[in-house]
Amino acid sequence: MRVFIVNPSDLAFGIAVITPRWLFVLAGATPRQYGDPIICDETLEPFDAARVQPGDVVGIGVHTSNALRGYSIGRAARAAGATVVFGGIHSTLYPEEVREQGQAHAVVRGDGDVVWSRVLADIVAGTLQPQYEGGKVSGENFVQARWDLLPDGKYMWASVQTVRGCPKHCSFCSVWRTDGQEPRMRTVDAVVSEIVALRRKGFRFIALADDNFYPVALKDLEMAARREDKTRLHELEEMRAERFELMDRLAKLPKDSIFFTQITMEAAEDTEFLDAMKRANIKGALVGVEAVTPEGLKEIYKDFNLAGDALAKRLQTFKKHGVHVLGSFIFGLPSDRPSTFDATAALAEQAGITFAQFVMLTPFPGTIDFEKWEKSHGDHPPMIEGVPLTRHWLIPPHKRPKYYMPHPTMTHDEVRARTQQVWDRFYSLPVVWKRSKTAGALRWRVAFVLISKLYRQMYANTGIATDSARQSRSQQWARLMLKPLQKLFVGRPIPDLQMPTAN
Ligand code: SF4
Repeated sequence: MRVFIVNPSDLAFGIAVITPRWLFVLAGATPRQYGDPIICDETLEPFDAARVQPGDVVGIGVHTSNALRGYSIGRAARAAGATVVFGGIHSTLYPEEVREQGQAHAVVRGDGDVVWSRVLADIVAGTLQPQYEGGKVSGENFVQARWDLLPDGKYMWASVQTVRGCPKHCSFCSVWRTDGQEPRMRTVDAVVSEIVALRRKGFRFIALADDNFYPVALKDLEMAARREDKTRLHELEEMRAERFELMDRLAKLPKDSIFFTQITMEAAEDTEFLDAMKRANIKGALVGVEAVTPEGLKEIYKDFNLAGDALAKRLQTFKKHGVHVLGSFIFGLPSDRPSTFDATAALAEQAGITFAQFVMLTPFPGTIDFEKWEKSHGDHPPMIEGVPLTRHWLIPPHKRPKYYMPHPTMTHDEVRARTQQVWDRFYSLPVVWKRSKTAGALRWRVAFVLISKLYRQMYANTGIATDSARQSRSQQWARLMLKPLQKLFVGRPIPDLQMPTAN
């Protein structure tokens, strides 16, 4: 019995930007008695069902965007005689659909870290159950990724997770529901040992792929301090202290190790935290800005963010403390008007944001927005190619709408076209060149421009363009750029690198 673990994707580029961490974690969760799992990341190359033999196990992890591709792999693997097991966020939300469309023998809901070995044991024993509840495993039970199985020269950045879960409850996001609102932190040693393993292999760019790297805000501490019972305060203080300990350890790694992560904007109030990030060489963070108006923030339950000039100032604080911001903005909120697009582009410039993404509000399953949107269609949602719009991920990709949420004053086309214009403005060559000053030497300025362009091509053009010629040009361009860019990111392997010690 061989174990395949597959990350489905409709597009394969030969080289990928970030390692899909879950593949290597599930490999780590596979008991050694079954041999090394065969990892197939379709962002590199398509899965070949002809390699599967009767009796093999094919594990497929799906989120909503790649579910349809995952289902076709499931069917092909089952036809080849494999036992097919699905996991991932989408399987957690729609186990029945996964069983029907992907012909899954079994579906794992929740975290696979602990339950995966039980699934494999049940397959061997002939007692496989149709469904397994992996639940939310605690931070100390997160499995170490098997980075020894990483193919050479295929990924630009590695990814390590330090915490799962987010205490917020944004309406467009499913993380707080699927990963929970109580942050589950890994031990500092577990995180650092993975990073050291990756640095030994020559990875010097590492994404700390967390839901929210800043799980305890100063406000949370203030609120807990007001309670008579101080238990929660002590828990939060301990969590905060562990974050600092982690960053202290990262600061002791070779100086050319560079990290990126994802945090909430409240971190800008906590300059002690930002300074620790700088010392740890956490050079940048994705910050969910989402909307630039108070009305917009209220609509998405994110009124802990600021708006207007105060917002620009807060974002500038990150940069002042050495943390670059990849700002994420959402368009298509009910309160958005044509002027919102310009105001957003202007704010991104004013705030000195280094990278930005501008996405259109999309109802993703598991979110509050989705529930409301699905309800609004009642029992008779519009059909596309025989698929209800409320199951949009099952619509063939070329027929899938680019935008789903009705807007009170703008048409879908207007929202899409205006979104595209903001991308064009933020990533126009003169503007990017000006921004590249931040990168320093000429070589790095050129790299900055290429990365900006690549980001734009991979995201904006393939994501929101309706014109298929434009999409295919973007994909070709991205393919061409990935190889030379990958060389820029490679570091010198340090096989004898030791674990940095605690103070
Ligand atoms: S969008 Fe970010 S801050 Fe909001 S719930 Fe999701 S992970 Fe948390």
